[in-house]
This record gives sequence, C-alpha cells and structure tokens, in this order.
Amino acid sequence: MLDKNIISKLSRIRRESEERTVSRRAAKIGKKYLNLSTTPITIEALAILPEAVAKEAGIVVIEKKANRIAVAAIDPKNAKTEKVIRDLENNYGVTVFVVSESSLKYALDYYKFAEKQTEDITGEISAKKKEIKEEDLLTLDGIKKFLDKEELSGSKANEILEIIFKGALANRASDIHFEPTGKEAKLRLRIDGLLHDVYTFELKFYSFIVSRIKLLSGLKLNVSNEPQDGRFTISFTQKDVEVRVAVAPAQFGEVIVMRLLDPDAINLDLKQLGLREDDLEIIEKELKRPNGLILNTGPTGSGKTTTLYAFLQHKKTPEIKIITIEDPIEYRISGIEQTQVDEESGYDFASGLKSLMRQDPDIILVGEIRDKETAEIGIQAALTGHLVFSTVHANSASGAVPRLLDLNVKPVSIGPALNLIIGQRLVRRLCANCRIPKTATNDLEDKVNNFLRKLPGRVNKDDYKEIKLFEAKGCPACNGTGFKGRIAIYELLKTAPEMEDLIIKQTGETAIYRFAVGNGMTTMQQDGILKVISGITTFNEVENVTGPIEWEE
Ligand SMILES: [Zn+2]
Repeated sequence: MLDKNIISKLSRIRRESEERTVSRRAAKIGKKYLNLSTTPITIEALAILPEAVAKEAGIVVIEKKANRIAVAAIDPKNAKTEKVIRDLENNYGVTVFVVSESSLKYALDYYKFAEKQTEDITGEISAKKKEIKEEDLLTLDGIKKFLDKEELSGSKANEILEIIFKGALANRASDIHFEPTGKEAKLRLRIDGLLHDVYTFELKFYSFIVSRIKLLSGLKLNVSNEPQDGRFTISFTQKDVEVRVAVAPAQFGEVIVMRLLDPDAINLDLKQLGLREDDLEIIEKELKRPNGLILNTGPTGSGKTTTLYAFLQHKKTPEIKIITIEDPIEYRISGIEQTQVDEESGYDFASGLKSLMRQDPDIILVGEIRDKETAEIGIQAALTGHLVFSTVHANSASGAVPRLLDLNVKPVSIGPALNLIIGQRLVRRLCANCRIPKTATNDLEDKVNNFLRKLPGRVNKDDYKEIKLFEAKGCPACNGTGFKGRIAIYELLKTAPEMEDLIIKQTGETAIYRFAVGNGMTTMQQDGILKVISGITTFNEVENVTGPIEWEE
C-alpha cells in the first residue's frame, strides 16, 4: 500500500514538473499554456481533425464555437503542426494553446469516443458478420449451441469472441467473466446482477482468448503476473459498445472481467426510468428549477448514474451549458462537456469542480460527493444559480443529510441548497413470457388494502384496485430464471423549511425519516410493494433489497 502511495506521489510530482516546464516554454514563444487533463474537451471539436493527423502532428482541436476553434499542440512551431494550423485557418479562427505530451496523450484518448470512421482501428473489434445472427444467441443455451459447432483453434479466437460479445449483448449481460479453474476456463455472464455459467474452454484455447483480448485492449501480452486494465470498442451494426477490461493473475491463470457499456442502457427518457406517475411529476417539477442540489443515494450498482444521466438528457438543449466531472466517464453524451477525475495530475472532484465553475455552467453533474470540500463547493454552486446533480453513499434518502454532516459540512448551508434526495435500488422484472398468475390470500388482501389506505394522497389508488400478483417460473426466453430485465424502486425526499430546522439541529436519520414520511414520502419498500401488486416484480425481490416487508397494523 505504502509503495503504491509513493509511486503515485512520484508520478504526480513528475507530471507537475512536466507541466511547469511546458508552461515556461509556452511563455517564451508567446503562447498560452493549458493542462488538458483539467480542461473539458468536446468530442464534436475533436472530430474536426482525424485521429491519425492529430497524432502525427501533435495537435488536437479541443473546442469549437461557431466558426472559432481552440487547438492544443505540443509544439506550434513544428513544421507538421504549423501546416495543420494553416489548413484549419482556412475554415476557422484558430486560437493556439501549448500543452505537454502527457496532456496531448490524455486528449488523444478521447478519440475512442468520437464517431468511428473506419472499422479496422486497433483496439476495435467488428461484430457485423452476417453468419453470426443475433436471433440464434438470444438465450445462454443458444450461445452454448453455437460455440459447440465451432472449431476451437487459435485462428478462430476472433470469431469465438464475436459470438461471445454478440451473445452477451443479446442477453443484456453487463459483464463477461473468464475464470480459469485448473484444467479449463469458465465463461460466465452477469445478467440482471447475477452470474450465469455459459461455457468452458480448454486452457490451451483460453490462452488464445487471453492474448486476443489483451491485444484488443492495448495491454502487455508478456505480462501475466500483475493486474492490467484497458478498454476497446465493439462496433455493431446499430451501435458501438465500449468494453472496460480488467485482467488479473489468479491461482490457475489470468482472470478476465469485461464490463460492457451499452449506450442503449443510458439513453433513457425520464418516462423509462420506472417512476410511478406521481413520482415522475415530482421529478419533472424539480428539474424545472434553475438551481439547487439533487442528490441520489444507494449502493454501487443501484442505477444512480443511469437516473442522473436521464436527468441530463432531459435538460439538454443547445442554450444550456452542462458540465460533468466523473470517475471515470463511462458513457459519452453528445452535447455535454464531460471531464474525468485524474488523481495523478491533481484533478480530483474538489479541484475539478472548482475549475469547472469558472466555465460558467448552468448544470453540473458531480459523480460523487465523498469529501467536505467537494460537498461545500457543490452546495455553493447550488446556492448561486446552478442546478447540481450528485450522489452520496447512503442507504436511504434520509441517510444523505447525516452523511453530509459526517463529512463536516456546515449544517446551515445544506438545507437552503438541497432540493431533492432520491433513494433507489434495482429489482428484477418478472419475465412476461412465463410469469404465473397467483391469487392473493385473504390475509394478504387485507394487508395490501390497509397498506394502500395509509399511502399518501398523491398515489393514485385506483391504479391498484385489482391486485395483480404473479410468481416467477422460468422459460428459455429468460434463461430459466423467471426474470428479465430490472426496474428501479424509488423514494423521493422533498425538502421543506421544517427539514432545514432538523438539519441545523443535526437530529439524525430517524428524525429526518419521520419528517419525510409525514411530508408525503413513499419509501423504496412501499414503491416496491406497489410494483409487486401491479405484476412487475415479486415480494421476494423487494425484500432482497429493502429487508423484510413490514405490514402496518
Ligand atoms: Zn421466462
């Protein structure tokens, strides 16, 4: 641990000295210096120059406004660079900045998000082969059958991977795992949060897969005794999918975990988030406000980012400037300036947020508030005319304020800044193809009716007049699990003046919870129960993420 700290400190010092040198060099030739790892780069601007040209001439376009562009170059006096600048000047007014090599490398990395011009860029796999049809891969069994037919030799590794990627996407998998177990390597897919065994490969063939994946993601082929991370893009006919790769040594060989970043998963409209009508109304109203803080809580993997991305998509218009700081950027949203935490160059949430504020944004997304400074700058931004979205690590909406207080944020500033706190979890949706209708017992019916009576007035009780209960069964379409896809259950805590008093008194989670419920909040569990009695999910699913259901007397 100590070693790691020293290494990271040293590399930070090295970076800082590199930046200082470049800054002096820029001053000497009368140009402005820029550190790109702390500057938002728009993909639309970047795409003005082809990647190959940018690499060769050591220059990138980082911003475009009307017919003016800003470019960043290692050495503006270099002959190749000068020529590129002259060409650009035929079409644009050009402002030139001087940057370090590390800065440029950082910017070039953004090309992976730009529109793909050709198919054969290194680090990219094309999955457009017609003979591998998606309809044959819609179930895990289908993938297995397809792989059974293939010859497993080194020359086929590419095709096998193509089948696996297509199959994983067709089955809505979020991750692909390869785990060597001794004689074999297991292929497993994570679907709706759970891992499924799909296939086993002989170790000899698995070594071809490892090499191919390392090659694709730009990892060192000859290194197998330390963890490596990389990424690449799979180009499908309809869309490009980013893949984040982690390779790590284990007892029987290298384990590979690949996270698939399916752009369809975040291209959500507010209406697709699974909010009840009355909750959706609250969200729409809150998003109309010009300033304030909206916090989302929940553990990792509870869909917080998806929800906040949907908010950004909803607010996005050419007249509004939206900037994000994330760790890391997982998905690209066009028309939004996204930046990424880079600890090595000292760009963390707090310093990043501070520098982003100077760019006069209207809306800011801060990936996570986990320290006092970030919290305070975020709150300050919310109080000075910005709409701020962020997440905090808390178990429920009522736990968010105590969490901020734990970080030593001043209680008086929290209340006025905070507009809304969201709590959320994901539950699996029943497979509509095989779910079995179930009759509610009299006892359950009584409990549900009593539950409905006690819900706040804004919940439309007519929607739940008839209890629609189902049980999971399992069919080929859902790989025998009885579930297909996931939906979030929510709780929305709207702040009010009374709550500000509670915050100042630092009363704790229970008092805030009581206030919230008294003020008409439906809890995650209540939202879950409503989703059970509308036939979307099961009591078991809701209890798995919210604890045992407590029916009121
Ligand atoms: Zn089914």
